[in-house]
Amino acid sequence: MAILPIRTYPDKILRQVCKPVTEITAEIRKLVTDMAETMYDAPGVGLAAPQVGVSLRLVLIDIFFSHNEEGERDLQVFINPEIIAAEGKQDGEEGCLSVREYAAQVTRAMKITVRTMNLDGDTFEFEADDFFARVLQHEFDHLDGKLFIDRISPLRRTLYKKKLKKILAKKKNG
Ligand code: ZN
Repeated sequence: MAILPIRTYPDKILRQVCKPVTEITAEIRKLVTDMAETMYDAPGVGLAAPQVGVSLRLVLIDIFFSHNEEGERDLQVFINPEIIAAEGKQDGEEGCLSVREYAAQVTRAMKITVRTMNLDGDTFEFEADDFFARVLQHEFDHLDGKLFIDRISPLRRTLYKKKLKKILAKKKNG
């Protein structure tokens, strides 16, 4: 097990369209284990493979862990996930482990239907709504090289880029 370094914007790997996972190998299982450790350590609600520098269609989510004090876990692994239906709208605040020191309101579908594979190689479909649907949409965006800051207004995005410049300059000097 290992905690992997998290890639942050504007790292180019976050902009790549990720490749499908073709086979669930020992290497993929190890990646999932390491990604889980990285996500819980951060801590984050979700983590997509490109965020740890691997351009594969693989996402981990645990919406339970960060919302309960006992530290119970409910890890879900999504391999080659697709949103096959979406309806309704919701607005809510999002942040991202790959987007430093920033959160913003993002509009997402309220309810989605997902087709995905799990670690056993089984393909199945399920419906999600509300917060879980939001997290799924955010994480799946990563697989297509998209970040939540692509879904905010150009003005806000410009302001964030300015803020980031300052953060990076500070880091360099300090
Ligand atoms: Zn993210």
